[in-house]
Amino acid sequence: MSNAATATINLDALRFNLLQVRTRAPASKIMAVIKANAYGHGITQVASALSNVVDAFAVAQFQEAIKLRKTGFSQRIILLQGFADAQQLHTLSELDIDTVIHQFEQLYILQSTELEQPIHGWIKMDTGMHRLGFSIDQFNDVYEQLLKCKSIKEKPCCLSHFSNADDQSNQKTNVQIALFKKLTRSIAVEKSIANSAGILAWPDSHFEWIRPGIMLYGISPFANQYGKDLGLQPVMTLRANVIAIQAIKKGEKIGYGEMWQASIDTKIAVLGIGYGDGYPRNAATGTPIFISGIECPLIGRVSMDSICIDIGEHEISVGDVATLWGDELPVEKIAAAAATIPYELVCRVTERVPRKMKESHG
Ligand SMILES: *Cc1c(COP(=O)(O)O)cnc(C)c1O
Repeated sequence: MSNAATATINLDALRFNLLQVRTRAPASKIMAVIKANAYGHGITQVASALSNVVDAFAVAQFQEAIKLRKTGFSQRIILLQGFADAQQLHTLSELDIDTVIHQFEQLYILQSTELEQPIHGWIKMDTGMHRLGFSIDQFNDVYEQLLKCKSIKEKPCCLSHFSNADDQSNQKTNVQIALFKKLTRSIAVEKSIANSAGILAWPDSHFEWIRPGIMLYGISPFANQYGKDLGLQPVMTLRANVIAIQAIKKGEKIGYGEMWQASIDTKIAVLGIGYGDGYPRNAATGTPIFISGIECPLIGRVSMDSICIDIGEHEISVGDVATLWGDELPVEKIAAAAATIPYELVCRVTERVPRKMKESHG
């Protein structure tokens, strides 16, 4: 028996979710977003599982793009934050990686660097998020300059990003879509703006390329819905073993800071997982944990290597396996109990948690 927490990664569920993406946006090409180690799921395994069913991969950072290409993936790879200097640009050209261009420094480097091979460029337009991208006033000029730029092959594509698409009643998204359309009307380019929320809730946003991230992992981008309500299946299931059972007397207090006190005689189970594994330290007392067919409440402070749950009279033994989130317990529910979003929970599962790939063969 191992005391370590494990994250099971269900690659069948991943591919099932990809099919749901296709069904929602059948006319669009898919750029699977696998940044941040595929949202904590393991970038190489996720990319392998998707490699013959997507049109491209997208990552945020230079090192992620390099690693992906050097691992042997031959799809288009889009570097969402683009390059930082001429040396990185040369590397992108050598490895045939697409770059996003979101600010003038990158444009100047492109114009002043002679590349062995021109690369695909994606010009990022700021349609209202006001984080990355060229403003509406700058856009036409930058686009013209990129068309003339010898470092860019073919026509640059255009992308933008939503600020509020997870709120289905917020009209800001329609404003962004309209602006994006208007600015690209006279130039026949491939366009992309839809993240998971756009794919699911804003069909006018699909255009030529969609960029699903969180929904691939079976998780809802919306605060009021779970992945399964949207026809998705969880990919990551985080589990840990019971490493001790304690009988607790009425009035005794548990854990650091004695944050929880037994109101009656009870039993607690200690699980071998804590914030050192990425379980959120601010998960509140009462956060559900699934074990032996029931949900038991987390009690007291989350420690680095362990947590406690109140099991009352239930028959639970050392070595039994608990689910922190995944198949039996939506990660969206745990995120709410920890005052965060499910994106953060899956991303921050730490390196000491082994990822065990699960898939059916044949
Ligand atoms: C992360 C990211 C996405 C994917 O967003 P989800 O909400 O996870 O679908 C799409 N586009 C860009 C630019 C991103 O940074």
